Order: sequence, then structure tokens, then C-alpha cells
Amino acid sequence: MNDVIIIGGSFAGLAAALQLGRARRKVIVLDTCRPRNRFAGHSHGVLGHDHKPPLDILDEARQQLARYPTIRLVNAGAESVSGAIDDFCVVTDDNEQLKARRLILSYGVVDKMPDVPGFAENWGASVIPCPYCDGFEVADQHWGLVWSGPQSMNQVRLFHDWTDRLTVFGDGHDIPPDIRADLAGRQVPLVDGRITEIARRGSHSSTIKIDTGPEVAVDVLFAHPRTMPSASLHDALGLATINTPTGIALKTDERRETSMPGIYAAGDLANPGIPSVTTATWQGVMAGIFAQQSMLT
Ligand SMILES: Cc1cc2nc3c(=O)[nH]c(=O)nc-3n(C[C@H](O)[C@H](O)[C@H](O)COP(=O)(O)OP(=O)(O)OC[C@H]3O[C@@H](n4cnc5c(N)ncnc54)[C@H](O)[C@@H]3O)c2cc1C
Repeated sequence: MNDVIIIGGSFAGLAAALQLGRARRKVIVLDTCRPRNRFAGHSHGVLGHDHKPPLDILDEARQQLARYPTIRLVNAGAESVSGAIDDFCVVTDDNEQLKARRLILSYGVVDKMPDVPGFAENWGASVIPCPYCDGFEVADQHWGLVWSGPQSMNQVRLFHDWTDRLTVFGDGHDIPPDIRADLAGRQVPLVDGRITEIARRGSHSSTIKIDTGPEVAVDVLFAHPRTMPSASLHDALGLATINTPTGIALKTDERRETSMPGIYAAGDLANPGIPSVTTATWQGVMAGIFAQQSMLT
């Protein structure tokens, strides 16, 4: 019997595995190698790894984990989960049956690309989600923001720290008069109409085509597509979730335990706040430590 099976072996999952391996617990990490930021050329804001390609950071982490004899890294997806605390069973997509006393779910989320030509193609390059991740590199340039709901006004206020040149794209949203007045007061132009295409010019340049008017060029476009968990194992288990502005997150307590005893969750899958490599890593560390401590006699 393994102590813990970790489903999702990226920043959160590997961080959990490291703590458990150092506590000499028997751990299996299942991973399908599709971290959310794999589209980005560089990962930023990660202490000690700033401006490194994200896949390089993960490769280095895997190499470091290899020195712990009780950690097994498996390139496979988890297909199903059953059982209860002290007796969980995970079946992989290559039909291996694995048993463990605890589970950590860290399989992340997927950004759902809108059906707009050029959006998915430029995701992570000239269409990006997060100023903390990439804002410094494009500071003082002309930024665009795709409106995604009331939370977008916080982005407008936030972006002032990086640039004075911002254009908001309503993208079919019905933006109320008080928000329009606020934007006008900040001298932030609002372009109504739906985005029909994003064309790229150069490395950080987007031409936004609108259904109701002329196209608008910006240097970089910020957008927050809806997200969905990368797998549906939590649904099959009936785990509690909470709503976030862009999707859902698994509900956990302060020990990162989900609504089902013995199942812990970490990373973007269970983060209703600002997603980042550092947050995922920290949550993974905590999930690993609390899972280990729950098995003490
Ligand atoms: C374009 C972009 C750029 C970003 N840039 C930055 C940045 O510069 N700095 C920063 O801090 N953050 C950045 N982020 C955020 C960062 O990518 C996430 O916060 C981070 O990847 C979350 O880590 P995680 O371990 O929770 O999930 P992920 O990194 O998404 O990993 C989940 C893992 O689970 C695996 N998986 C999925 N389903 C299964 C299954 N059924 N079985 C087994 N494995 C499975 C996946 O293949 C994947 O390897 C960026 C995000 C995006 C979209």
C-alpha cells in the first residue's frame, strides 16, 4: 500500500511529493505533463527561477525528486478514483490499479479558449492573463483588456501600476453607465462590440477586429477565459466546490483537506484566488505535510 497518490505532477503536485518523500512516505505521482503555463516562453515572479521556461523549472524539480527512493513519478493520467480514507484505489489510463491511504488532487485547470480566431494561437504570447506574470516585460506599452465581468474593473485599477495606455474591449458585455463614467474619468477608452479576430503583428502586438467598428491595435491583450478543472475525478467523488469569477475551485479547509476525509487538494484546482506557480507550490507543500501528519499514529 502506498501512503499517498498525487494526481497531477506539476508545481503543486511535485511540491507535495517533495515534502512526503523527505518524510520517507511512499508516494506515487501521476502526471500527463500539460501544465497550464506551458504556452508561456518564460515563467516570472518565481523566486530563484525568475524568467526561466516553465518546463525547465519542472524538469529540474523532477530531477531533484529522483534522489528520494520512496517517490515514484509515473507519466500516466488518473482515469478513476474509488474507495475511502486508508483505502483509495486509482486506475490509470494504462490500466494500472494503484492503492493508497491518502490522495492529493493537483490536476490543475484548463483555460477554455473562446471561439475567436487568433485567441488560442496567441495565448501565452500576445494574449496573456496576468500582469504579475508578464506585466513587467510589457510595461508602458499599449495594453488591451477584454472585459469579462465586474471583476474587470479591478484589473483596470491594477494595470495603472504598469501602464497609462489601456483600452478596454467590452466584447459584447452590457457595461453599466457608472463603469463607463469611471473608465472615461480615468481616460481609458472603451471599445464596444464583439471581438471577431485577433491578428498578431510582431512579438507583442495584437490587432483586434470588432464586429461593429474599425479594428484597434494594442501591444498586448489581457484576457481571462473561463476555466474548468483538467479532469472530472472530483465530480465522480462528489467533492464540494466553490464558485470563482472564472469557474470553480475545490473547497478545502485550512489543512487543504477536501470535503471527503483523506483527500487533499492543491494548486489552481483548489485556488479561488490569484493563481501562480508560487501559490500552487505553497499549497502543494501544505497538502503534502497535512496528508503526512494525518497518518501519524
Ligand atoms: C499563459 C499563462 C502564463 C502564466 N505565467 C505564469 C508566470 O509567469 N508565473 C506564475 O507564477 N504563474 C504563471 N501562470 C500560472 C501558472 O501556470 C499556474 O498557477 C500553475 O501552473 C498552477 O500549477 P498547478 O500545479 O496547480 O497546475 P498545472 O501546472 O496546470 O499542472 C497540472 C498537472 O496535472 C496534470 N493532469 C491533468 N489531469 C490529470 C490526470 N487526470 N491525471 C494525471 N495528471 C493530470 C496536467 O498534465 C499538469 O501537468 C501562467 C498561466 C498561464 C495560463
